[in-house]
Amino acid sequence: MTELYDYDYLLQRVRDALPDAVKHHERFEIPKAEVLHEGKSTIIRNFVSIAKRINRDPMHVYKYLMRELGTAGTIQGERLVLKGRISPSLVQRRIERYVSTYVLCSECGSPDTELRKEGRVELLVCKACGAVRPVQAKIDVRTTTETLKEGKIYEVEITDLSRDGDGIAKYGNYVVYVPGARKGQSVKVKILKIKKNAAFAEVVS
Ligand SMILES: [Zn+2]
Repeated sequence: MTELYDYDYLLQRVRDALPDAVKHHERFEIPKAEVLHEGKSTIIRNFVSIAKRINRDPMHVYKYLMRELGTAGTIQGERLVLKGRISPSLVQRRIERYVSTYVLCSECGSPDTELRKEGRVELLVCKACGAVRPVQAKIDVRTTTETLKEGKIYEVEITDLSRDGDGIAKYGNYVVYVPGARKGQSVKVKILKIKKNAAFAEVVS
């Protein structure tokens, strides 16, 4: 009965039991951009193949790169020609960010996904595990640097309760304490006092 304890055998059995998508994505590698500079231009030689490899419309990838790299460019056959000299590593990082934002399933890591529009929301639908998540094109820098000011009114969502029973909301980097507010409520509050990252507020109607 040695086969029961044969590690390779057991491993193979586990692998066989995995859905195909999981096995495949182990092999998925973010395509490497072949970047070269010509005069004042940056050329991604294999641009269209990259888009095909990640199963996305080249125009979608193109628009993303233009926005993220803050430059202009044109697709010429297989190549993308960008204005300005952009470092190959920056180009690669942006492509990787595109893939993690618009391609990879955040649940199972599979690249076997598709983009779908639901009203104004863009969704990433995973064909491997069925997970659906909204695409977040950019981390919202605004909310993380948002500042509160004493005496001003803000709309916050109470997501928790403090030990004393005060409502707690997160606002940018602040924790806002709102006495009398209930969890799940969205309330308008006036900031009374700020101490470092803690803000003390009261509900206004
Ligand atoms: Zn998935």
